[in-house]
Amino acid sequence: MNTTVLGHPRIGGRRELKRATEAYWAGRIDADELHRVTAGLRQETWRSLTEAGIGLVPSNTFSLYDHMLDMSVLLDAVPDRFRRLEGLDAYFAMARGAEGVAPMEMTKWFDTNYHYIVPELGPDTRFRIDDPSNAKPIAEYREALELGVRTRPVLVGPLSYLLLSKPAADAPEGFAPLDLLGPLLETYAELLERLSGAGVQWVQLDEPALAADRTDEELAALRTAYERLGDLPTRPRLLVATYFGEIGDALPVLAASRAEAIGLDFVAGPGNRNALGAIGGLGPDKTLVAGVVDGRNVWRTDLNAAMATCASLLGLSGELVVSTSCSLLHVPLDLAAETDLDPRLTARLAFARQKVDEVVLIGKALREGRDAIADRIPPASPEGFVDARVRARLDSLGPGAPRRDYAERRDAQLDLPLLPTTTIGSFPQTDEVRRARADHRAGRIDDTAYEAAMRAEVDRVIALQEDIGLDVLVHGEPERNDMVQYFAERLYGYAHTTHGWVQSYGSRYVRPPILFGDVARPEPMTVEWTTYAQSRTTKPVKGMLTGPVTMLAWSFVRDDQPLADTARQVALALRDEIHDLEQAGIRVIQVDEPALRELLPLRRADHAAYLDWAVAAFRLATCGVAESTQIHTHMCYSEFGDIIDAIGALDADVTSVEAARSRMELLTDLDKAGYRQSIGPGVYDIHSPRVPSVEEMERALRHALDAVDADRLWVNPDCGLKTRGYAEVEPALRNMVTAARRVRAEP
Ligand code: GLN
Ligand code: ZN
Repeated sequence: MNTTVLGHPRIGGRRELKRATEAYWAGRIDADELHRVTAGLRQETWRSLTEAGIGLVPSNTFSLYDHMLDMSVLLDAVPDRFRRLEGLDAYFAMARGAEGVAPMEMTKWFDTNYHYIVPELGPDTRFRIDDPSNAKPIAEYREALELGVRTRPVLVGPLSYLLLSKPAADAPEGFAPLDLLGPLLETYAELLERLSGAGVQWVQLDEPALAADRTDEELAALRTAYERLGDLPTRPRLLVATYFGEIGDALPVLAASRAEAIGLDFVAGPGNRNALGAIGGLGPDKTLVAGVVDGRNVWRTDLNAAMATCASLLGLSGELVVSTSCSLLHVPLDLAAETDLDPRLTARLAFARQKVDEVVLIGKALREGRDAIADRIPPASPEGFVDARVRARLDSLGPGAPRRDYAERRDAQLDLPLLPTTTIGSFPQTDEVRRARADHRAGRIDDTAYEAAMRAEVDRVIALQEDIGLDVLVHGEPERNDMVQYFAERLYGYAHTTHGWVQSYGSRYVRPPILFGDVARPEPMTVEWTTYAQSRTTKPVKGMLTGPVTMLAWSFVRDDQPLADTARQVALALRDEIHDLEQAGIRVIQVDEPALRELLPLRRADHAAYLDWAVAAFRLATCGVAESTQIHTHMCYSEFGDIIDAIGALDADVTSVEAARSRMELLTDLDKAGYRQSIGPGVYDIHSPRVPSVEEMERALRHALDAVDADRLWVNPDCGLKTRGYAEVEPALRNMVTAARRVRAEP
């Protein structure tokens, strides 16, 4: 009964990786120094896993930026535009761009908050292993071996690599990355032979793509891939690791393959257990790597339940290895670093180091019997963190009453010019604003001084918007560090860590709040700032809140009740906030849901149930308002695909989206989906510092008018302005207002 983990955090307990890579980018340290720091991080990982008692230690889980990018470099799938650069310069340029060279695209790693660099492949891509003896997985294997640790290098599997790639911009119509399966397998075959030559006994090939719906063609590619690799005469043994859910039809394919071990996630994919039983198990020649410790959330494992799961798997394979459900990359490193948390909460938490210990304990119990670890099983935590008032109110509210028909209520709402102009909420967070916040946090300035600084900023932002001539103003969100954290810090039921960083992408880490208990709002969260802003102008000021789905998506969320129930609690707090804003005279309120699509389950069959509760939570938050109050929502994307029906169902009066880059096809799609409310397709792309011209935005608006009536069209940038500077924002907004006026004058 051996033990393993599928991957490990790589950023270091004190964010050493961030500091080192950023210092390297800034030219403060050289490549040797960078290597010295990162070698220390790798050694620390191998040492701690070994000391904790993990039997099978992985390697090549480290990355300077991203493991998909590492794969592209390893396979020499480097787009031509980076070929003039070398080594680390080329590597980092692929991720971040360089003088005159655009970076590769970055996108979300399945339904996590990790982002990977998307490989760009075309018919001309020639996979090959450049400099095989120094290939990263071989080098790291040797590095660990020198420390006396024989590791299992981890690679992204060939099928997932291709399915996560995109066709290069110049690839001919009809080309699909999967077309490259044949040549890719030859390169993987060479790599496996090289690894074997270096003494590697096991390799882990990650195939998370199997947790999503797969076509017959893709399943056939899976079969082909592992037939080809399985048949190699000299190769390490193969662990094909799947995670993030049930693998459905891929299970019999893997079971029939020659891979020596299959990894299944029994946390995100409990149904894998029955599926395995239904096919009669993996047979006596295969090892089952059972993911029973949640690699994606921060809760302590119920050891009894995990042992029971493992026990139920006995007999379904030759051997059983206890493991995490996925890489531990998605959780913070060490709970021991958190000294400020409520001890009742700490007693429920486990970060990466603690999860490693859990894996070891489960392995021990399975070998030696439950008694061997009896003193390590914590007593069941008492029922805690329950707020009976919140529960009673939610029961009495039920689903929340529907609002009146949009066409009827809009007459009661603000009288605004045709094509009203507005922004998405935040204005540039200047150095002074950030400094004031940092000074306040550090106690260098008191509440009064901090609030005065923020009010002065609101004054500036309001005056600027009036001068520019915008119709619906915002206060600019200077007081918000982050759109989720700001609210989480003001709600009961959320906790905050000091060192709980997880990698979002490259050197960008986030410290998600922990939603551990019933959520309640002790007092108003935004009313003072919004009403202050409103007191400075006669134009309407739009209140600005973060929606329930986004409040969950960017946090670690309790797993002892359905997400739907937790979302309702957040929605209730927002409902109260909206009520208070309304009472204070605010007539336009925006509830941002940039993460609505992000939480969409990987499998289509689960979409409807998710969208049901997500939409219901939004409506519960917003449906309590008077007809005369206008509800806006904002989403940071323009490809709605699977959620297009949900947009209308949210029943906001105005939806603003990120259509600036996608030529407004969205409007036609929304129309087809029956969306009848107003829409603000972003007319300029805030992700670039370029100032768009009046003509350009005028064209965008006229284009939009082909698809939507003038009385339903709003004019706004495509996202918040917080990462931009005033030097661009001010002229861009002036041009936007001019463009709107021109179209108004001559529709
Ligand atoms: N209101 C937020 C802002 O403007 C919205 C952020 C977002 O779209 N992610 O910053
Ligand atoms: Zn946005």
